[in-house]
Parts: sequence; C-alpha cells; structure tokens
Amino acid sequence: MALNHIENLIEKTGKKLKLSDNLIEQLREPQRIVEVNFPVKMDSGEVEVFKGYRVQHNNFRGPYKGGIRFHTQVNLEEVKILSALMSLKTAVVNIPFGGGKGGVLVDPKKLSTSELKRLTYAYAKSISDFIGEQKDIPAPDVNTNPQIMKWFKDSFEKETLRKEPGLITGKAEKDGGIKVRDEATGLGGAAIALEVANSMKRKPQDLTVAIQGFGNVGTHLAHHMDHMGFKIVAIADVDGGVTHEDGLDYHKTYKKLRDGEPLKKLCFCSLHGESKDCCAVGAKEILEEEVDILIPAAVGDQITSSNANKIRAKVIIEMANHPIDEDAQKILEKKNVLIVPDILANAGGVLASYFEWDENVNGQKLSYEKAKKELIDKMQSAYKEVDRVSKKKKCTLREAAYQVAISRLASAA
Ligand code: NAD
Repeated sequence: MALNHIENLIEKTGKKLKLSDNLIEQLREPQRIVEVNFPVKMDSGEVEVFKGYRVQHNNFRGPYKGGIRFHTQVNLEEVKILSALMSLKTAVVNIPFGGGKGGVLVDPKKLSTSELKRLTYAYAKSISDFIGEQKDIPAPDVNTNPQIMKWFKDSFEKETLRKEPGLITGKAEKDGGIKVRDEATGLGGAAIALEVANSMKRKPQDLTVAIQGFGNVGTHLAHHMDHMGFKIVAIADVDGGVTHEDGLDYHKTYKKLRDGEPLKKLCFCSLHGESKDCCAVGAKEILEEEVDILIPAAVGDQITSSNANKIRAKVIIEMANHPIDEDAQKILEKKNVLIVPDILANAGGVLASYFEWDENVNGQKLSYEKAKKELIDKMQSAYKEVDRVSKKKKCTLREAAYQVAISRLASAA
C-alpha cells in the first residue's frame, strides 16, 4: 500500500462526510514524527549508529497505540502508513485509543542477544519523552516479542524514573499481560466470519473456507472457525499446503505441523484415513480455490490484477494487512465479492491490547472466558455497524469502515 493511497482514502472519505478541509488535513497527516539516530555498542567494542522512528498519527480518541518492528525494510513511509491504519482500526472497533507505529532499521537476526538488548534500551531511551501509558502505548510487532518489550519498559523506567504498568501491551502474563492476547487476532477474524455467515443466513457447517497463512493469525483463526463449525477445506503456508473437499481435520493438521511436518507434505497422508482426495496446493494457488470464504492471513499484496479474475470465493476476509491491491479490489467488486477490510477484520489484536491496558491502568480485570466473549461481542458489533453503513450508503464494506472510523475521529477532534 502506498502512502498516498491511504491519504487519498482518508481525504475522499472526509469529503464524503463533508468534513472541513482543515480537519481532513489533520486526519491525513501524522500529528508527530519522531526520527532518532542512536549509538549502540556492539560486542566487538565498536559503536554502530541505528535509525529508528515513532510516528504518532492521531490521538483525538485516546493515547497513540501501535507496535514496534525491527526490520531491514523499516522506512518512514511504511511507518506513517501503519500508524494511520492503527488510528482507523482503533476507531472502527470503538476503543479509546489513537494510532501510532514505531520501528528500527535493523536485521535483529544478525545481533547477539546482548546487542539486541542494548539496541532496544537505546531506542527506548531516545523516544522515552514521547511515550507513556496515557500518551503512546507500544506493543510487539514484526521481529519484536514480549522479552524485547520488557527491555523497552526497563529502559523507559530507568530513563524517566517512572513506573507505568500500562506502558506497553503484549506483555508475558507474568509481567501483566493477558491470556487472550496470543489468539486475539485470529479469534476476532473468526467472530467476523460468524457474523458474515449470519448475514448470509447460512450455517457455518455449510460454508467452505480456505486460509492462506498458518502462523499466529492463521492457526488461531482455523482453530476457532473449526470450533464454530466452518468447513475448512484448504490451508497453506509459504511453502504450500493441503486441500480436502470434505474439510480438513484442523487438530490433526496443526499437530503434524507442530511436530515439524511441513503442510505441503501432509498431502495424501493419513489425515483422512485412506482418502485419496487430499491434494497439494501452492501458496498462491490456494487463493483461487472454489470456496465460500477465502482468508488471506499471510502477507500483503497477494491478490492483484494478475489473479483477481481467477478468485472464485464469494467472501474475502482480510486478516493480513492489505492483501488485495487497488486494481484487484475494483475487479472483485465487479464480481460482487464481499470483502471484509483489514482495518476491521484484523482488529482483534488491538482490542485485546485495550483489555490488557485497561486492566493494568484501571484495574478492570477480565477472566479469560469473559475477555474472549467481550472480544467477540466488540468485533461483531463493529461488523454490524460497518455493514449497516454500507447498506445505507450503498458502498463497499471498506468504504463504510473508513466512514465509521473517520466520522468517529472527527467527532472527537
Ligand atoms: P506469522 O509470521 O506468524 O505467520 C505468517 C504466515 O504466512 C506463515 O504461515 C507463513 O508461512 C505464511 N506466509 C509468509 N509469506 C507467505 C507467502 N508469500 N505466501 C503464503 N504464505 C506466506 O504472522 P502472523 O502474526 O500470523 O500475521 C499474518 C498477517 O496478519 C500479517 O500480514 C500481519 O501483518 C497481519 N496481522 C497480524 C496481527 C497479529 O496480531 N499477529 C494483527 C493484525 C494483522
């Protein structure tokens, strides 16, 4: 996704909502961009300087909220896009957060553990004036994890002499995190799938599903959709996958995968006894399966003008960020494919982050079962509201989700 694309979408939606030019300008641009260059002592004794960012897109509805990634492709344009998406996501699921994102330009796999720790400490120190549990709340993202976040928090406390239990979310449970966080994005997607089934007046048992991506999001999504009764007929990861027209046994598939068997090798195995109908499917090929619901849950830009015409699904739920590019979106609209947009479909993670923060800051403790129920309820009411606007304004779910988010941001300005 290009930066001008999201800026244009915000502007177009703002104009539709008849917002003033001044307000549209405030929503299009980040409120603050922090760019830092900080030194880190390497194990060799030499000092290297790293570049990092924290972009604070909008805080009209509450503190900035968004992950921190460590990656060689981190750049300002990408961080700006991701921070704007966070403002829209938190608004669409109606939680009192804004949007932000951070990143460091680094290949963490090339660092020793002590170098990674020193890098995290130095990055946190350099942006510590701008973050805080009521100001800007980071979380793990690509190549960062609860351990890195703990170092980040330790450095913040050392630098500011303040202890803020809600400073970061996505913490390990022993450090104040919550159990539902790990599965939250997948669970949120499954809740949306159930709502889509209801709106189609179909039972999950009668709906076939293909899932591209079997990582954190894909595995939890498959687990919950299987539990809800959906018929998952195809699953693939980066190396390919497996299909079965009667539905895959999710638990056996997952177990074999955990035992180290690659998905693609599960083909013609004993998943279905002696069944001969289990077939291999390529990582990209899975998108063209004839299913009711297709769920891209891997990486962005998977459906483009080159394969959009071959898509046979009736519904696409975007669990990955931006899996469908703009040209493909137009083609799919003409084919009447219902697309649940990423800013709505994959917002379950940030919802769980809100529960964690609320517990840390306000003492609002939710049991695991209650947190799951609350997450499902909030995802489904967000879907219902977006669906209502889409029907009323006769527009796509994506346009409706932008309208819901931007009108909420505007009323909080
Ligand atoms: P992950 O790294 O745990 O898993 C990614 C999966 O995608 C793996 O199974 C991998 O094999 C597969 N994959 C990678 N490249 C692929 C390709 N080219 N073709 C097919 N499969 C490929 O990541 P995740 O946390 O599950 O996230 C998946 C997507 O969801 C990402 O786009 C991420 O930005 C988005 N997302 C994740 C969260 C979250 O809470 N984890 C929240 C919002 C959005």
